[in-house]
Amino acid sequence: MSAMKKKSAPFDLNEIFERVNETYFDGKIAKPRLTWSARVSKSTMGKYNYATDTLTLNRLLNRAGTPRYVLEFLMYHELLHKALGYQVVNQRRRVHTPRFRKLEKNFRQYREANDYLRVLAKNEHEKSLAARRRTVSVRGAEPREKSYFERLLEFFSL
Ligand SMILES: [Zn+2]
Repeated sequence: MSAMKKKSAPFDLNEIFERVNETYFDGKIAKPRLTWSARVSKSTMGKYNYATDTLTLNRLLNRAGTPRYVLEFLMYHELLHKALGYQVVNQRRRVHTPRFRKLEKNFRQYREANDYLRVLAKNEHEKSLAARRRTVSVRGAEPREKSYFERLLEFFSL
């Protein structure tokens, strides 16, 4: 962390929650704990913790350039997890069920939000490749690079 003071956040999670809850859930979802991730994450845009009823969005997106609908989409996605719960199949949690994926598409800017996140993932991926190349040229060793597809999969494990 730099010594620079964090600017006040451009987005208010409470406000985003209220709006998404009203628009898509008739205001019926009880407000979970809402937090930004402690650190910027390259792989996780959001998550919902059932045990602690905590919804976390990636701090990376808390900047003026992020379209509001992207945050609303992630909020909607995570609130769907809260609303639907999860199934346990063979001792594994199943959260992105066909029903989940169908309801997820009810989000009004579903395509725009996914497109934005895909481009963001690609850009972040290229940035990390460039950073790795710089490291490699210093150290002279070639680490195995994750494929773009692997990165995308990580990125979308919301
Ligand atoms: Zn999810």
